[in-house]
Amino acid sequence: MESTKILEVRVDRVDLTEAVDLISQWIKENKKKYIVTLNPEFVMLAQKDQEFKKILNQADLAIADGIGLRLADRRLKRLTGVDLMLSLIKKGYKTLLIGARPGIAQAAAKKLGVFGLTELNTKKINEIQPDLLFVALGMSKQEKWIVKNLPKLNVKVVMGVGGALDQIAKPWLKAPKILQVIGLEWLYRLILQPWRLKRQWQLVRFLAKIYL
Ligand code: UDP
Repeated sequence: MESTKILEVRVDRVDLTEAVDLISQWIKENKKKYIVTLNPEFVMLAQKDQEFKKILNQADLAIADGIGLRLADRRLKRLTGVDLMLSLIKKGYKTLLIGARPGIAQAAAKKLGVFGLTELNTKKINEIQPDLLFVALGMSKQEKWIVKNLPKLNVKVVMGVGGALDQIAKPWLKAPKILQVIGLEWLYRLILQPWRLKRQWQLVRFLAKIYL
């Protein structure tokens, strides 16, 4: 797999088909793996949080979510965490969604025909024993939880999905495809969730660091 490093964080240059094939292979071979979905905020946080940087660089797959990282490396493919998650679920793997605010994981799970839990209860997760576990606890918190709990989890592939469960439970939060294609997904989300402005400042700092 071809990779690049952006400010010392490894990013894999895979497209959706390649990612789905790779993960399907892992599930078939019964391997325990974790995936991170990166954006500039992750890379900026990794600059000051060494533990987080290590967790990101040790991931079995690191995809670039959204436009920001593709501005730093033009050879990265367009591939969002939500699309990857939905494509894997479509393949029929036993899937569990956990985290987010109460009721969100269950609402998203109901729409997708999979399992959903708010509580991060490893015993309950292991009772379900999913092939795929998607964790929505927000950047860094979810990755740290995954790495800490992976050894005791009876699952195959785990991925942090940030706000993806909210986007599925409340579809209007997901930007129209056209805006994703032209790279304006961040603007759509900013209009809907203006409190994200403080976070999007990280995108500006990231671009300054890359280009200046
Ligand atoms: N979240 C959570 N517990 C926390 C912090 C966040 O369950 O302590 C959830 C939150 O409810 C939402 C998601 O994490 O579902 C948001 O993650 P993030 O902000 O990283 O996602 P983005 O909106 O950037 O995709």
